[in-house]
Amino acid sequence: MNGPQIERLIQLLGRLPGLGPRSARRVALHLLKKREALMQPLSAALADAANAIRPCGSCGNLDTIDPCSICADPRRDNGLLCVVEDVGDLWAMERGRIFAGRYHVLGGTLSALDGVGPEELNIASLVRRVAGGSVREVIVATVDGQTTAHYLAERLADSKVPLTRLAHGVPVGGELDWLDDGTLATALKARRAL
Ligand SMILES: [Zn+2]
Repeated sequence: MNGPQIERLIQLLGRLPGLGPRSARRVALHLLKKREALMQPLSAALADAANAIRPCGSCGNLDTIDPCSICADPRRDNGLLCVVEDVGDLWAMERGRIFAGRYHVLGGTLSALDGVGPEELNIASLVRRVAGGSVREVIVATVDGQTTAHYLAERLADSKVPLTRLAHGVPVGGELDWLDDGTLATALKARRAL
Protein backbone atom coordinates (compact mmCIF):
# COMPACT_ATOMS: atom_id res chain seq x y z
CA MET A 1 0.00 0.00 0.00
CA ASN A 2 2.80 2.43 0.98
CA GLY A 3 6.38 2.66 -0.17
CA PRO A 4 8.95 0.38 1.54
CA GLN A 5 10.40 3.25 3.62
CA ILE A 6 7.00 4.06 5.08
CA GLU A 7 6.26 0.40 5.74
CA ARG A 8 9.61 0.02 7.49
CA LEU A 9 8.94 3.09 9.61
CA ILE A 10 5.51 1.79 10.61
CA GLN A 11 6.94 -1.65 11.37
CA LEU A 12 9.68 -0.22 13.62
CA LEU A 13 7.32 2.17 15.41
CA GLY A 14 4.99 -0.77 16.03
CA ARG A 15 7.71 -2.42 18.11
CA LEU A 16 7.67 0.42 20.64
CA PRO A 17 5.94 -0.32 23.95
CA GLY A 18 2.33 0.74 23.89
CA LEU A 19 2.12 1.12 20.12
CA GLY A 20 0.16 -1.43 18.11
CA PRO A 21 0.00 -1.44 14.30
CA ARG A 22 -2.82 1.06 14.20
CA SER A 23 -1.17 3.66 16.44
CA ALA A 24 2.16 3.04 14.67
CA ARG A 25 0.50 4.11 11.40
CA ARG A 26 -0.91 7.21 13.09
CA VAL A 27 2.49 8.14 14.55
CA ALA A 28 4.22 7.56 11.19
CA LEU A 29 1.74 9.78 9.41
CA HIS A 30 2.09 12.47 12.07
CA LEU A 31 5.87 12.39 11.75
CA LEU A 32 5.72 12.60 7.97
CA LYS A 33 3.43 15.60 8.15
CA LYS A 34 5.70 17.34 10.71
CA ARG A 35 8.90 16.55 8.91
CA GLU A 36 10.86 19.66 9.86
CA ALA A 37 9.28 20.47 13.19
CA LEU A 38 9.38 16.92 14.59
CA MET A 39 10.66 14.14 12.39
CA GLN A 40 14.12 15.53 11.63
CA PRO A 41 14.88 16.69 15.20
CA LEU A 42 13.62 13.35 16.51
CA SER A 43 15.79 11.47 14.07
CA ALA A 44 18.82 13.53 15.15
CA ALA A 45 18.00 13.03 18.85
CA LEU A 46 17.73 9.27 18.34
CA ALA A 47 21.08 9.16 16.55
CA ASP A 48 22.71 11.27 19.29
CA ALA A 49 21.27 9.12 22.05
CA ALA A 50 22.29 5.90 20.32
CA ASN A 51 25.86 7.19 20.03
CA ALA A 52 26.31 8.91 23.36
CA ILE A 53 24.29 7.01 25.96
CA ARG A 54 25.58 3.84 27.60
CA PRO A 55 25.04 1.90 30.81
CA CYS A 56 26.99 3.06 33.87
CA GLY A 57 29.65 0.49 34.73
CA SER A 58 28.88 0.86 38.42
CA CYS A 59 25.09 1.03 38.80
CA GLY A 60 23.60 0.25 35.36
CA ASN A 61 21.91 3.63 34.92
CA LEU A 62 21.88 5.08 31.42
CA ASP A 63 23.90 8.26 30.91
CA THR A 64 26.40 9.96 28.64
CA ILE A 65 29.12 9.65 31.25
CA ASP A 66 30.49 6.60 33.04
CA PRO A 67 30.31 6.59 36.07
CA CYS A 68 26.89 8.18 35.59
CA SER A 69 25.95 11.56 37.04
CA ILE A 70 24.27 9.88 40.04
CA CYS A 71 27.29 7.72 40.88
CA ALA A 72 29.58 10.72 40.38
CA ASP A 73 27.55 13.08 42.58
CA PRO A 74 29.49 13.63 45.84
CA ARG A 75 26.40 14.93 47.66
CA ARG A 76 24.70 11.56 47.54
CA ASP A 77 24.80 9.13 50.45
CA ASN A 78 27.01 6.09 49.72
CA GLY A 79 25.41 4.28 52.64
CA LEU A 80 21.97 3.91 51.05
CA LEU A 81 21.75 1.61 48.05
CA CYS A 82 18.42 1.28 46.28
CA VAL A 83 18.06 -1.81 44.08
CA VAL A 84 15.64 -1.37 41.19
CA GLU A 85 14.56 -3.65 38.39
CA ASP A 86 14.94 -1.23 35.55
CA VAL A 87 16.22 2.25 34.66
CA GLY A 88 12.57 3.34 34.37
CA ASP A 89 12.18 2.65 38.10
CA LEU A 90 15.30 4.69 38.85
CA TRP A 91 13.80 7.54 36.83
CA ALA A 92 10.57 7.25 38.84
CA MET A 93 12.51 7.57 42.11
CA GLU A 94 14.49 10.50 40.77
CA ARG A 95 11.40 12.23 39.40
CA GLY A 96 9.98 12.53 42.89
CA ARG A 97 13.33 13.64 44.38
CA ILE A 98 12.60 11.33 47.28
CA PHE A 99 15.91 9.54 47.48
CA ALA A 100 19.45 10.84 47.81
CA GLY A 101 21.41 7.60 47.96
CA ARG A 102 22.83 5.45 45.18
CA TYR A 103 21.17 2.92 42.90
CA HIS A 104 21.80 -0.49 41.48
CA VAL A 105 19.87 -1.51 38.37
CA LEU A 106 19.33 -5.29 38.16
CA GLY A 107 18.18 -5.27 34.56
CA GLY A 108 15.13 -7.45 35.27
CA THR A 109 13.77 -9.78 37.90
CA LEU A 110 14.28 -13.47 38.48
CA SER A 111 11.79 -15.54 36.55
CA ALA A 112 12.02 -19.29 36.06
CA LEU A 113 9.18 -18.98 33.58
CA ASP A 114 11.07 -16.56 31.33
CA GLY A 115 14.41 -18.27 31.89
CA VAL A 116 15.88 -15.31 33.80
CA GLY A 117 18.38 -16.63 36.32
CA PRO A 118 20.81 -14.75 38.58
CA GLU A 119 23.49 -14.76 35.85
CA GLU A 120 21.24 -12.75 33.56
CA LEU A 121 20.93 -9.95 36.13
CA ASN A 122 23.48 -7.54 37.62
CA ILE A 123 23.61 -9.42 40.90
CA ALA A 124 27.30 -10.31 41.11
CA SER A 125 28.17 -6.61 40.77
CA LEU A 126 25.65 -5.81 43.51
CA VAL A 127 27.26 -8.31 45.87
CA ARG A 128 30.67 -6.75 45.14
CA ARG A 129 29.38 -3.24 45.80
CA VAL A 130 27.84 -4.21 49.12
CA ALA A 131 30.98 -6.14 50.10
CA GLY A 132 32.90 -2.90 49.51
CA GLY A 133 31.87 -1.84 52.99
CA SER A 134 30.33 1.62 52.67
CA VAL A 135 26.71 0.47 52.28
CA ARG A 136 24.63 0.67 55.51
CA GLU A 137 21.27 -0.37 54.05
CA VAL A 138 20.09 -2.02 50.86
CA ILE A 139 16.59 -0.98 49.85
CA VAL A 140 15.08 -3.59 47.55
CA ALA A 141 12.63 -1.63 45.41
CA THR A 142 11.69 -4.41 43.00
CA VAL A 143 7.99 -5.14 42.67
CA ASP A 144 7.91 -8.71 41.36
CA GLY A 145 6.69 -10.19 44.61
CA GLN A 146 9.21 -11.96 46.80
CA THR A 147 11.35 -14.10 44.52
CA THR A 148 14.06 -11.61 43.65
CA ALA A 149 14.03 -9.97 47.07
CA HIS A 150 14.50 -13.30 48.86
CA TYR A 151 17.26 -14.32 46.53
CA LEU A 152 19.06 -11.02 47.13
CA ALA A 153 18.67 -11.47 50.88
CA GLU A 154 20.39 -14.85 50.59
CA ARG A 155 23.21 -13.58 48.42
CA LEU A 156 23.83 -10.56 50.66
CA ALA A 157 23.47 -12.40 53.97
CA ASP A 158 27.24 -12.62 54.55
CA SER A 159 27.59 -8.84 54.33
CA LYS A 160 25.38 -8.37 57.45
CA VAL A 161 24.01 -5.22 55.81
CA PRO A 162 20.29 -4.86 56.62
CA LEU A 163 17.88 -5.17 53.70
CA THR A 164 14.60 -3.28 53.53
CA ARG A 165 11.74 -3.24 51.06
CA LEU A 166 9.19 -0.63 50.10
CA ALA A 167 6.06 -0.59 52.24
CA HIS A 168 2.75 -1.94 51.03
CA GLY A 169 0.92 0.26 48.60
CA VAL A 170 3.26 -0.68 45.80
CA PRO A 171 1.34 -3.06 43.51
CA VAL A 172 3.10 -6.34 42.78
CA GLY A 173 3.95 -6.82 39.13
CA GLY A 174 3.67 -3.14 38.34
CA GLU A 175 6.33 -0.57 37.68
CA LEU A 176 7.31 2.21 40.05
CA ASP A 177 6.70 4.59 37.18
CA TRP A 178 2.96 4.04 37.48
CA LEU A 179 2.89 5.32 41.04
CA ASP A 180 2.33 8.95 41.79
CA ASP A 181 5.24 10.61 43.57
CA GLY A 182 3.38 10.85 46.90
CA THR A 183 2.65 7.11 47.02
CA LEU A 184 6.23 6.28 46.15
CA ALA A 185 7.58 8.69 48.75
CA THR A 186 5.32 7.15 51.41
CA ALA A 187 6.31 3.60 50.42
CA LEU A 188 9.97 4.56 50.68
CA LYS A 189 9.63 6.37 53.98
CA ALA A 190 7.63 3.50 55.53
CA ARG A 191 10.03 0.82 54.28
CA ARG A 192 10.46 -2.21 56.49
CA ALA A 193 12.91 -4.99 57.12
CA LEU A 194 12.95 -7.59 54.37
ZN1 LIG B 1 25.91 4.93 37.96
